Amino acid sequence: MLELHGVSKRFGETLAVNSVSFSCQRGELVGIIGRSGAGKSTLLRLLNRLSDPSEGRITWDGEDVSRLKGSALRKWRRRCAMIFQQFNLSPRLDVITNVLVGVVGERPLMSSLIKFFPAADRARAILELDALDMAGAALQRAVTLSGGQQQRVAIARAMLQEPDLILADEPVASLDPVNAEVVMEALQKICRERNVPVIVNLHSLDIARRYCTRVIAMAKGAVVFDGPPSALTPQV
Ligand code: ADP
Ligand code: ADP
Repeated sequence: MLELHGVSKRFGETLAVNSVSFSCQRGELVGIIGRSGAGKSTLLRLLNRLSDPSEGRITWDGEDVSRLKGSALRKWRRRCAMIFQQFNLSPRLDVITNVLVGVVGERPLMSSLIKFFPAADRARAILELDALDMAGAALQRAVTLSGGQQQRVAIARAMLQEPDLILADEPVASLDPVNAEVVMEALQKICRERNVPVIVNLHSLDIARRYCTRVIAMAKGAVVFDGPPSALTPQV
């Protein structure tokens, strides 16, 4: 279980995240909504420790992960899968190589490096792609795929890390409505089947209502709503 205790992040005069506290269970699909500048991205970056909190504590199963350093910090980052708006695939590399990057955690030097990946990793990569209906595209270059397909490849790459926590920063913001649905359904399935918490920043309240088990609304860095989508009032 993930717990935040009074987590704040200050950038000079700006309080980007203001004393945020909540806990999140395995199997929850939490949508974070709020206007641009509300602190959503900063919050995700604090969770995977790309950014250090100015105040407060973040714990995972009781262990404080907000002060980790060195190899313990790198290990925590590997346990947090990150999914981005812009997919961040290497466009000219093929799909399976893009997914295998999930086991090394960095970009390979050449696509020919694929032969150095153990067969077991390649088999896992194909399984993850298959779970997202993308195994048929394994040998295609990423650049040839639609945005929705690229995002599914990015999710497969993230799953190869066997994450404890999935963090997605506006994963459907650059997709058309149909692809946005496909990607949200994929996250929903992963959340249910793998029993991991998924925290997803969304700018669409409609998508949050339809897919999330819980919605957290932020304004000026603070949590202003936290509950099931059914409890959201229309004006939130
Ligand atoms: P959101 O993701 O909800 O759009 P952000 O987390 O990106 O919001 O930003 C929250 C606030 O923190 C904004 O006022 C933004 O300008 C500020 N901020 C974010 N990152 C930085 C940074 N690296 N340096 C200074 N200010 C930042
Ligand atoms: P090709 O498939 O055209 O023979 P490569 O397999 O060497 O070329 O790489 C494919 C593409 O992946 C390159 O054009 C490059 O843009 C990108 N690429 C490869 N390695 C890296 C790297 N270490 N960092 C960034 N981009 C890379």
